Amino acid sequence: MNYEIIKLFKQLAEIDSPSGEEGNVSKFVFDFLTDIGFKPEKLTAGMIYCQTSTNAPRKLFCAHMDTVEPGRGIEVIEKNGYIQSKGNTVLGADNKVAVAAILFALKQHKLANTMPDIELLFTVREETDSGIQQIPKGLIKSKTGFVFDLKDGLNEVALSEPYISDFVIKIYGKASHAARPEDGINALEILLGTKEELSLGRLGSETTFNIGIINGGDATNTVPGTLTLKGDIRSSDKNTFYTHQTKVEEIFNKCALTKGGKVSVEWIPYSFGYTHNLQGTAYNKIENIYTELDLKLDPIKSTGGSDAGFLNHIGIETFNLGYGVENIHTTEERIEIAKFIKLAQIVQFMMSE
Ligand SMILES: [Zn+2]
Repeated sequence: MNYEIIKLFKQLAEIDSPSGEEGNVSKFVFDFLTDIGFKPEKLTAGMIYCQTSTNAPRKLFCAHMDTVEPGRGIEVIEKNGYIQSKGNTVLGADNKVAVAAILFALKQHKLANTMPDIELLFTVREETDSGIQQIPKGLIKSKTGFVFDLKDGLNEVALSEPYISDFVIKIYGKASHAARPEDGINALEILLGTKEELSLGRLGSETTFNIGIINGGDATNTVPGTLTLKGDIRSSDKNTFYTHQTKVEEIFNKCALTKGGKVSVEWIPYSFGYTHNLQGTAYNKIENIYTELDLKLDPIKSTGGSDAGFLNHIGIETFNLGYGVENIHTTEERIEIAKFIKLAQIVQFMMSE
């Protein structure tokens, strides 16, 4: 662990921060920024925002501080040129490699007196329910943003990200004794009634619909009066995404009405999709920067969401870039040290370009 950036990463990774419990790592980031002379701000839920100067910031660098489970008691080890966990937890490289690279790059600029006018955002609960949605309106002033939360290749950039929304569907019937079913309205029958029209799983090449959690009923001898369904819908096509939501509501409402029950449907946006313009100025700029660093930018369609989705949604043209981490979200998560060092160079260079 000779490299300073690896030491910094180790410190970050060994602070537990599963989604929703980012307090200690948030404090570490806050103190780090304060120590190198900035005035970071604490936002809702422990998110951290910082501007490097009083001048108008030109770009935003954003990373999330939470990790997935098993993510407690992480021990970082070095093996065959890689950084990995001891094997019983994730490494937390998603996304602390990016947190470390951003902090490290900033420190280098500070030491060299080359600090660019940028803004930084460290978010929470990216992995679960997109905590970034709680940042104050108008907080981010830059027109362009960068997130490093994509894939193991350092040269990849997300051309698009899917639209994802969680949902909660509540079906209200009326409970009755199992011996007197005619007195009740069976919520399960309402659900079964949707079968004809409602498809599950893959709805098209770009769209999926999943009911992942089904809860309901009170007793073996009671007709279930309520049912709760939770799941998600995802699509890379905005139109299909919203059209299908309307269709789901219509189908459930119709079936409930037929049986004399009621339904409520709540959509909880998780990821805001986007598609970048490969001909655009911002994209060309990144392409040039990567070329200077001997990397050929490779645009890919991402199947997952990231903080870049919300930032694009609020009008900041944000790119999600590859950051070198392999086997994300598993206990085999790792990053090659050489790639990590290269990533820090990329970030440092991008800050000033
Ligand atoms: Zn991530």
